[in-house]
Amino acid sequence: MNDLKGKRFSRLIVLKDSGKRCGGHVVWICICDCGNICEVIGNNLIRGRNKSCGCLKKENAIKKNWRHGDRRIRLYRTWVNMKSRCFRKNHHKYKYYGGRGITVCPAWRSNYLIFKEWALANGYADHLTIDRIDNDGNYEPNNCQWLTRSENSKKQWEEKHGSKDKNFKIV
Ligand SMILES: [Zn+2]
Repeated sequence: MNDLKGKRFSRLIVLKDSGKRCGGHVVWICICDCGNICEVIGNNLIRGRNKSCGCLKKENAIKKNWRHGDRRIRLYRTWVNMKSRCFRKNHHKYKYYGGRGITVCPAWRSNYLIFKEWALANGYADHLTIDRIDNDGNYEPNNCQWLTRSENSKKQWEEKHGSKDKNFKIV
């Protein structure tokens, strides 16, 4: 029997023997780079049949759709950009996001499909941009909504200059 404990196979790190056997092979409990725990047959790890908890396959499927002009391309880019603003220190807008402590909730950060599901259930359309309702809050389901670019700019303007109810002095 091969002791795979502690070894890495692509995105998976082997944690321990699950105690289960499958076709004479040990079933190992593994942790994936995305944070998911899964069980994988040792032989499949060694032969490179299982490279992740399944997230890699999903991502590849998304990339394939991307190449084929899936209309959700834009949503995928939104997701990538949102994470870059919060986690990539060399991003030109990092100081307004990650640099101010704004983060992306772990579920969204690790899994595009969870973000996509939320987006589609909450009125995403290709002409809309993601908005944080509380400007000091994080990218997470209860602090985000989809606004048109102009609504979003208007909101930013109002945050800087006060509420829309304010009457301007006529000069
Ligand atoms: Zn994974």
